[in-house]
Amino acid sequence: MPTLIRWVDGRAALAEDAFTAVADETGIPRGDVIVSLARFQQEGERLLGEGRSVGVRIEANEAVEDLAYDLPRIAVVALVFPKYRQGQAYSSAALLRERYGYRGELRAVGEVLREQARFMVRCGFDAFEPADGSTPEQCHAHPLEIIRAAVETYGDELALVSSFGAESAVLLHLASRVKPDIPVLFLDTGMLFGQTLDYRQQLAAKLGLTDVRDLRPRFEDLAVGDPNADLWKTDTDACCHIRKVIPLDAALGGFAGWLTGRKRFHGGDRMRLPVVEEAGGKLKFNPLANWSKTDLDAYAAEHDLPDHPLVAFGYPSIGCWPCTSPVEEGGDVRSGRWAGSQKTECGIHTARAPGAAPNVGGDI
Ligand code: SF4
Repeated sequence: MPTLIRWVDGRAALAEDAFTAVADETGIPRGDVIVSLARFQQEGERLLGEGRSVGVRIEANEAVEDLAYDLPRIAVVALVFPKYRQGQAYSSAALLRERYGYRGELRAVGEVLREQARFMVRCGFDAFEPADGSTPEQCHAHPLEIIRAAVETYGDELALVSSFGAESAVLLHLASRVKPDIPVLFLDTGMLFGQTLDYRQQLAAKLGLTDVRDLRPRFEDLAVGDPNADLWKTDTDACCHIRKVIPLDAALGGFAGWLTGRKRFHGGDRMRLPVVEEAGGKLKFNPLANWSKTDLDAYAAEHDLPDHPLVAFGYPSIGCWPCTSPVEEGGDVRSGRWAGSQKTECGIHTARAPGAAPNVGGDI
């Protein structure tokens, strides 16, 4: 019997699976069963008429709409993940919950890894069968495990995006322990503090990171959109678009997934940050999502990681110099970013495709 993990009160727990998954070519056993959509369409009435609970397995190339009429009678919908990075099952889950109001069990099966668990819950799943035999404990994985799993899955198609800011050293150190040659994408906007540029050099050397890539805005975009380097005074969204969004999108084109350093304790939208999220056909891993400031400080102390020089001057979050201010002791970590304006996001996590949902949190 495969491992089945259910989420109960926000925690993963091993569960007994009362259902037998039945292949199309085998006979129907006694008890509760999960069958393919095609088989349900042929034999569903008979199976339900026998008084048993029936579940239906939906492959990635099948439409949940074909099941809409029968949903109130179906106990389990098992959505198949054919590949780790395939996002169709997430969309199907959201459709079943939100459009069709499905209240039965939604189960993820196939190539499902534990790192997807939190994102699955957000999409409406109740349970999953992990392909790697994960235990419930592993669903609350240490950041190092999350990074290892991402590296094992994506290999050279995985990047890490870092601002080399106030809290960047922890994620960079964790990643260096797993893959020192991981491509690290650093947005050198042309507006960074000199201390950040120095820190980027020193930290990369100390951690042995061998592939830090400096992403700079395109000359033609600056010439047209910000010839005097003062766009930040009048239109911060446009400035961030030229100096951050365009260069990052171009660099990420060659990757299938990326690591970010965002955390829930930063508050705001980030309080609902999942460990894994999907955006624009790529998976984004947030290995530090669950860590508190205390966790970060303890890790940095244990590994003797140097602070960004501006931390000592009251900067808990550090971006471009025109848009970053120090914060009073005890103040919100990110309140010094675009202080005095409504802006909280630089735009790199904002959906590019019309109608697509943005990911939470606005900066790296
Ligand atoms: S943070 Fe400020 S200076 Fe940096 S790209 Fe955005 S608007 Fe421009």
